[in-house]
Amino acid sequence: MSLRNFLAEMHRKGEILEVKEEVSPRFEISSILKEFDGGPILYFDAVKRYDTKIVAGACGTRQRLCWALGVDTENLYQRLISAWQTPTQPKRVRDGPVSEVVEKARLSEIPILTHFERDAGRYITSAILSARSLDGEIENVSIHRLQVLDNRHLAIRLVPRHLFKLWQMAKEYKQDLDVAISIGTHPAVMLAASSPISLGVSEFDVANTLLSNRLRLIKCENVNAYAPADAEIVLEGRISTEKEVVEGPFVDATGTYDVQQKQPVIELINMMYRRDHVYQALLPSGSEHKLLMGLPREAAIWESVSKVVPSVKAINFSIGGCSWLHAIISIDKLVDGDAKNALLAAFSAHPSLKHAVVVDTDIDVFKLNEVEWAIATRFQAGEDLLVIPKARGSTLDPSANQETGLTTKLGLDATRPLTKPKVKFEPAKIPSSKRATKIIHALRKSPLNETVVRGL
Ligand code: MN
Repeated sequence: MSLRNFLAEMHRKGEILEVKEEVSPRFEISSILKEFDGGPILYFDAVKRYDTKIVAGACGTRQRLCWALGVDTENLYQRLISAWQTPTQPKRVRDGPVSEVVEKARLSEIPILTHFERDAGRYITSAILSARSLDGEIENVSIHRLQVLDNRHLAIRLVPRHLFKLWQMAKEYKQDLDVAISIGTHPAVMLAASSPISLGVSEFDVANTLLSNRLRLIKCENVNAYAPADAEIVLEGRISTEKEVVEGPFVDATGTYDVQQKQPVIELINMMYRRDHVYQALLPSGSEHKLLMGLPREAAIWESVSKVVPSVKAINFSIGGCSWLHAIISIDKLVDGDAKNALLAAFSAHPSLKHAVVVDTDIDVFKLNEVEWAIATRFQAGEDLLVIPKARGSTLDPSANQETGLTTKLGLDATRPLTKPKVKFEPAKIPSSKRATKIIHALRKSPLNETVVRGL
């Protein structure tokens, strides 16, 4: 199962917009991506100075991710969670389409984009990185931004999560960490790579379950790592445990420039690619970035909150909250403390979560006016506010302490109190009348001015 299988399916559904004019990978492609963000998949036929075509936005809508996993929107969380719980080993093959050409790594051959005005340079943003512990016991797959330093070197943003841990373990043995950097993989592989599962569970195994046992891996020639055999491009390299550079500036999920920090250097050895490979681009802070980051966390919050309250109806990782920092959760509560426990469960399921609102199930979490109305009419800060200072948050947030990662978390219980009559909190209704409905229907159809003139 490959990115191109998925693109062929999306082509049949009319989801791809072809850009035939020649465009530059420096700012031009990113500005077109920004304009069509959340819309169709964009396929760039003619990239200035390159023969390679570029595709972006494959994972840019919730619907496309559902198609990638073969599920309805209602079953998306369950599908992801059950794959996290039942990982299965993919088939390992000797050769795959990606090993068609193997040569010395040359990043100048790949049309890597420069996205934003003050970005430090060209950045690979869609790659999944797979690495194994030195004893081969632990495999991890995750997505990291990669800054191009020169033809054979990248700087990697290594947040303290699983790959960082493997790198630290290698460092103890004074060895660099082998890594496979795969570009152009099936959306299910990307979703698995952004899933919050425990260290020790391979995201490839989760992807294999999501793909109904159709993921194939090949062993890299020069490094101790596996990569999807159907990827478009694979770079083989080593994350240095000695060499560091200042990484950034770079725009991340919040759409603001992330802080510059000293980060490890990756030394590239080989690259493998399909002869007719497509380069997969991903606009930082675009809907594809937000969905890949946010959706697995929504599922994790759904699972965690479901354990402490009787029923969770919906979760919205709102776009305004960068699909990372804000969550709106609707629950059916049994007793008044339920919403606070839901907030605690949400914060523990997603360490970067900063603000969370819990509402009753009569509120649509995707309609922000309804959510604000619930806060206006069902929330009392003196009783319903939860403030947790100095908790671990996201360093992406410019208002947090970006050095220590500490932030203040805020939870709002905007569910109606059970101590007061329900009727006091319900929106007033107007009795329905068939006549009024008929008139409204007619009014909707008539042009505005004519209606008024005839009445006069
Ligand atoms: Mn992991």
